[in-house]
Amino acid sequence: MTGTPSAAPKAPHPRPRGLPGPVLLAVCLALTAAPLVLAASRGGPPRPWRDEFATGLALVGFAVLFVEFVLSGRFRLVGGRVGIDRVMGAHQLFARTALLFLLVHPFLYATPLVPYDLPFDPTRRERLGLDGPTILSGVAAWVLLAVLVVAAIGRDGLPFPYEVWRASHGLGALLVAGLGTHHALGAGRYSTDPWLAGFWLLLLAAAASTLVTVYLLRPLRQLAAPWRIAAIERIADRTWSIRLVAERPGRFRFAAGQFAWVTLDRSPFSLVEHPFSIASAPADLPNLEFVVKEAGDFTSRLDRLRIGGRAYLDGPHGAFTLERRTGEGVVLLAGGVGIAPMLSLLRQAAAERDPRPWLLLYGNRHAGQIVHADELERLRGRLDLRLVHVLGEPPAGWTGEVGQFDARLLERWIDLPRMAGWLFFVCGPPTMIDTVERGLRARGVAARQIVAERFRYDLG
Ligand SMILES: Cc1cc2nc3c(=O)[nH]c(=O)nc-3n(C[C@H](O)[C@H](O)[C@H](O)COP(=O)(O)OP(=O)(O)OC[C@H]3O[C@@H](n4cnc5c(N)ncnc54)[C@H](O)[C@@H]3O)c2cc1C
Repeated sequence: MTGTPSAAPKAPHPRPRGLPGPVLLAVCLALTAAPLVLAASRGGPPRPWRDEFATGLALVGFAVLFVEFVLSGRFRLVGGRVGIDRVMGAHQLFARTALLFLLVHPFLYATPLVPYDLPFDPTRRERLGLDGPTILSGVAAWVLLAVLVVAAIGRDGLPFPYEVWRASHGLGALLVAGLGTHHALGAGRYSTDPWLAGFWLLLLAAAASTLVTVYLLRPLRQLAAPWRIAAIERIADRTWSIRLVAERPGRFRFAAGQFAWVTLDRSPFSLVEHPFSIASAPADLPNLEFVVKEAGDFTSRLDRLRIGGRAYLDGPHGAFTLERRTGEGVVLLAGGVGIAPMLSLLRQAAAERDPRPWLLLYGNRHAGQIVHADELERLRGRLDLRLVHVLGEPPAGWTGEVGQFDARLLERWIDLPRMAGWLFFVCGPPTMIDTVERGLRARGVAARQIVAERFRYDLG
């Protein structure tokens, strides 16, 4: 079971495209700072510092709101390199920041609100120039934004399906952007400037076009590359294998470990699509496999889908791949259905005859939850793979590991400094990922060596 560490052979599949993290951050910061710069360049007679501060918060908060459309549009340029989970984490953090800035700004002004023009004050130094419609649009945007953010945070408690929430979130955000633009153009001291007004209108158009892309253009593209549902079978306790075959092979390429939003037995314009990691290897194309755990309305009724029905994919997405990463060996830490992208990585490594040592730590509550146990055993013959099953509730006579992914387990299997140059891939329930990431970091593994995939994006 010992392998000679060496570089992996060159992969024949595409590298995930996308902007590097620092570039993405710089673009977001530039977009956010742009209205401040435009406002500052306009000048004008001085106002109380509280007014300037309130306006500054509003300008930044409003610009952040537009950045949110780009972050949540699943654009490969945005999330291809850094990972959609990180991008969605930023989306949630930015939303809370924008909400805070926009909610507090009206209360900070020192200058009185005078709802009509003062002929001696064309630069709006002596008054906040809000007329009736401008106040209305501002208040409506203010309330709607708060509702959207609170509903997103408490999404699981809402009395309607995820798809309804998602559509209302997108359309609601566009409405906030429209109302906010109306408010800014009418009320803002600086936004009446043609450059800043043009900037807001440009961002509004860009926001609308992200929704057109997501809900219209992307489904149209998917129509041109349909898939067929070849098989759906239960492979473990509450866990299913979905197999698709491409009707027009060659149009879909991915890197092992990536995921796709999948629409099964419905039109690509349907809002019912779900993100699943691809469990098969790129080498298996035109066949694809997904391993899916029952979690809610959709995943608990997979047996009702028609074999032979059409399927559509939005993807590939995600950065949970070996592309652009070098490691002398690879450790996979999978909790439950977190095995799905690991299967893809292992299957592709076997197809490529990857010579590196691999270690798979695969945790489940009980043995009935283990998926593709026989194939994992067989992979040991095709790869330098060490396979360790970890069970929370082991059967009598179990000789494998018992318990959870805790510090003790990592101490037993993560052998540093021997694994100092290895890569560590983690996927599973959020608490498991957090524990493993903390444990690995505590054992001296560098953050850049750890790659995690989260099946939920929520910051909590
Ligand atoms: C990147 C990624 C990869 C994933 N890979 C797998 C996998 O390989 N196997 C697997 O079993 N599960 C995977 N999941 C989780 C899977 O998407 C959800 O369990 C599934 O969508 C739940 O749908 P539901 O209608 O059955 O449950 P619901 O009760 O409707 O949803 C449960 C939760 O799942 C999430 N969810 C539901 N629909 C969507 C959606 N359209 N987009 C984003 N999140 C959604 C939400 O957080 C929701 O609160 C992955 C999730 C992500 C984000």
